[in-house]
Amino acid sequence: MPKNWAGNVVFSAEHLETPTSLEWLRDVVAGTARLHVLGAGHSFSRIADTTGTLVSLRDLPDVFDVDTEAGTVRVGAGMRLAELASRLHGRGLALHNMPSLPHITIAGTIATATHGSGDTNGPLASAVRSIDLVTADGSLLTLTEGDERLEGAVVSFGALGIVTAVELAVVPAFEVEQRVHEGLDWSVLFDHSAELFAQAYSVSVFTDWQDSCSAWVKRRVDDPAPDLSWAGTHEADGPRHPIPGISAEHCTPQLGEVGAWHERLPHFRPEFTPSVGAELQSEYMVPRSHASEALRALRELGPLIGPVLQTAEIRTVAPDQYWLSFAHGRPSLAFHFTWVPDTAAVRPVLARIEAALAPWSVRPHWGKLFEAGPDVLAPRYERWADFASLRDGLDPDGKFRNEAVDRLFPR
Ligand SMILES: Cc1cc2nc3c(=O)[nH]c(=O)nc-3n(C[C@H](O)[C@H](O)[C@H](O)COP(=O)(O)OP(=O)(O)OC[C@H]3O[C@@H](n4cnc5c(N)ncnc54)[C@H](O)[C@@H]3O)c2cc1C
Repeated sequence: MPKNWAGNVVFSAEHLETPTSLEWLRDVVAGTARLHVLGAGHSFSRIADTTGTLVSLRDLPDVFDVDTEAGTVRVGAGMRLAELASRLHGRGLALHNMPSLPHITIAGTIATATHGSGDTNGPLASAVRSIDLVTADGSLLTLTEGDERLEGAVVSFGALGIVTAVELAVVPAFEVEQRVHEGLDWSVLFDHSAELFAQAYSVSVFTDWQDSCSAWVKRRVDDPAPDLSWAGTHEADGPRHPIPGISAEHCTPQLGEVGAWHERLPHFRPEFTPSVGAELQSEYMVPRSHASEALRALRELGPLIGPVLQTAEIRTVAPDQYWLSFAHGRPSLAFHFTWVPDTAAVRPVLARIEAALAPWSVRPHWGKLFEAGPDVLAPRYERWADFASLRDGLDPDGKFRNEAVDRLFPR
């Protein structure tokens, strides 16, 4: 059986199925007692795993239908973001935002509320207008806006069924320039994070939680130029990689070189390995109203975090309406960590971070590593019980249950 991208999860499935038609996929689902769907395998948790049959959509027929009047695209769920972005750009269209890497699938992206940065940018899932879902008995269910079940089903990590196609809102294509500003002082982050993140369409702060802090500023060229003179930073004198000391060859162009949205908003270029490869990741989100306290709490953990950290990123995310999304009902500050590939060394640090951020109802990224269980997490999601009911109704025999689903929603 294959491993995930990071190599920390060896899938426990007995069998990998790669149907080439929707009918075949529906037969597989109807006739299999336990299964789960795999995207591009870029999650760090066991969220895509199963002890039964793993299903990949990579061989399903292509779906790419633009509706210019509605401002939407209907796309095959297994398509990679890079492919979708380049096809949309060819039609003069864009997604509202991109995560740091374009290597992942559309369905994998929305199923875990994968996100980029930007005060006005929700997770990629917030562009969803409808989904086509193959449910446990093999039937096809289309959920559209206005059907409350859509809000439960978009961020559902394969626990409700297999999404085969997604309708996404698109926007006119736009151009972006990216600059790295170094020498960011902690006092600026503690006291003026709102002003800092408001500087441009997408702003990320990279830090080691100890000494170094830089702001990666991605400006739409139709927006005013940012002014960071008040923040005491200086512009980097060459291209940078988020992990200090690594060549920036794998990164999208910086130094203010203007380019297409999909070639600037992700940090990493599709033709190269994103990040470092030998790593683990976690990410935790708190309401922006508690940004300053949460930043200070994590900074205090800097000496604990430092020895197992490769780099950390801080981003902003606009709220969405999805029941299990970290962004449900709240503008979020997202704390991402790229760890050394040593689970045993990282786990105690996760527990400390989760305890430090607990006063602000911290929510984890479902595709990354976290420690909390349902007793801690359920009260932090208003619609947790509704999701459990929706899951039980659509999958009464627990076909799509796996270790991760059982952990969050015990029988
Ligand atoms: C280097 C690197 C950088 C990253 N950067 C970011 C980032 O910037 N922002 C961020 O938020 N995350 C980031 N991530 C995490 C990553 O985006 C998520 O884990 C994402 O879910 C991975 O997508 P995937 O296609 O690989 O899905 P997988 O990891 O294969 O699956 C993820 C979940 O989606 C479900 N799923 C997949 N396909 C379907 C389907 N057709 N129907 C129903 N469910 C489905 C799976 O069952 C599983 O539960 C990063 C990961 C890596 C490795």
